[in-house]
Amino acid sequence: AVTDSKSALGEKAGKFISGTKQMLIDGKWVSAVSGKTFTTIDPATGKVITDICEGDKEDINQAVLAARRAFEDDAWRDMTPSARERLIHRLADLIEENADELAELESIDNGKNKAIARMVDINVAIETFRYMAGWPSKIAGDVLPLSTPKTPEAQFFGYTLREPVGVVGQIIPWNFPLLMCAWKMAPALACGNTIVLKPAEETPLTALRLGELICEAGFPDGVVNIVPGYGHTAGAALTAHPEVDKIAFTGSTEVGKIIAREAADSMKKVSMELGGKSPAIILPDADLSVAIPGAASAIMFNQGQVCCAGSRLYVPDNLYDEVINGVAEAVSSMSIGPGLDANNMVNPLVSETQFQRVMGYIDIGREEGAEVITGGKRRGDSGYFVEPTILGNTTQDMKVVQEEIFGPVLCVQRYSDMSEITRLANDSIYGLGASLWTRDVGNIMRFVPKIKAGTVWVNCHNILDVAMPFGGFKQSGYGRELGKDVLELYTQTKSVCIMA
Ligand code: NAD
Repeated sequence: AVTDSKSALGEKAGKFISGTKQMLIDGKWVSAVSGKTFTTIDPATGKVITDICEGDKEDINQAVLAARRAFEDDAWRDMTPSARERLIHRLADLIEENADELAELESIDNGKNKAIARMVDINVAIETFRYMAGWPSKIAGDVLPLSTPKTPEAQFFGYTLREPVGVVGQIIPWNFPLLMCAWKMAPALACGNTIVLKPAEETPLTALRLGELICEAGFPDGVVNIVPGYGHTAGAALTAHPEVDKIAFTGSTEVGKIIAREAADSMKKVSMELGGKSPAIILPDADLSVAIPGAASAIMFNQGQVCCAGSRLYVPDNLYDEVINGVAEAVSSMSIGPGLDANNMVNPLVSETQFQRVMGYIDIGREEGAEVITGGKRRGDSGYFVEPTILGNTTQDMKVVQEEIFGPVLCVQRYSDMSEITRLANDSIYGLGASLWTRDVGNIMRFVPKIKAGTVWVNCHNILDVAMPFGGFKQSGYGRELGKDVLELYTQTKSVCIMA
């Protein structure tokens, strides 16, 4: 293992982390009012990468007031749709120009493989800005066929405007730090809002680098503000601030509930992308040469730290041995190590806390009677590496089957009859994703409508496309990000009635 990953960084990323990182408020880089900082840690080594200015209530207040001023200012308010499009495209181009540096920063801060960060996180962030850049000139209201009777003196004309919501507070998690910025910022900007974004305390680096690119692209001061800090301080202050019109949150269901309650006090609009425990269901007719590697990557991608990870695998009785052995072989052959070496396909978990949480669940699984087919242990004695783990013969009542582990742990369960599938898939408080593995179009037609999930994949898993709305059923949240649907989250309708 590399003892100091920093030495593996390129020149630009190395330079970026060389000093204390400030926060972006009103177009300027500033320190925290309190003067406090916190550290961000390299999960491959457990060592400090650099210090970050720690935003709290007063910093959030200043950022929100800057966002409010920017929202009311003509420079942003009256910017033509085509000018806003060009600005967002310019930002996408800048991200692309700096993609390798961003991938390295993502890798050292989150732990993930840098080649995958480049190919997935950074590329999809670019795609997201480009896709959303197309909307400003196409967001339009309607002309309404009113039934209000006309008289000789009065006739009525009705139409709608789609207006931005205002100042948007965005709170994001650590699993896809830059990509989550893109999912949140791109549609909010396309719709004409202004933003205060709080990145996750574990992974602030790429959000801050993105802030520099936002300044370089030429967004008016205060349109985007980025304030790193902790959830219970900076995050809570953002949620409570009376000048924030909407909160967009991605994170755990537990924190989502706290935020929704708090936001209700001032009737803020809220959208929530929360946790999941997504089933992958192999049907008896599945092509196992596709389903076995598919089930393995459904859980192991990003070390299982994916909200829609296929963490519950259901297999017909007669295929159980073949599938579980196949998946075990696929995951145990992956090389484990720091993400800055692109050959390592299994990388550390994001933090000590996350590491302890996942190891704790593996122990719970053992105590509940699950069979550890492969993995189950820490790898190495520094960094937060957990072996890809498969728990066999699990049952619905187990905690490891019901609760989100958010790590490289797959629970595999047998079923004997297709009539059980809908019940097993839906027996969860969550409803984010699900996958069906089958070659039979009749099965697809029968099961897709019955599965309570925001996305159902067939013969694939974790495929997210910017054109495809993404979000949860049940306790996985509400509102849909991406696609056309996201415009609902960042605009509000104004009805206009003219008497003439
Ligand atoms: P988390 O809920 O602990 O933290 C997410 C963010 O919320 C962080 O920025 C944190 O600082 C902030 N926060 C924490 N407490 C807060 C409070 N009281 N007020 C305001 N903000 C607060 O989640 P996490 O551990 O960072 O991320 C993992 C979770 O995110 C998982 O449950 C995962 O499923 C979920 N997730 C969901 C999606 C999705 O799209 N549905 C995507 C990624 C992650």
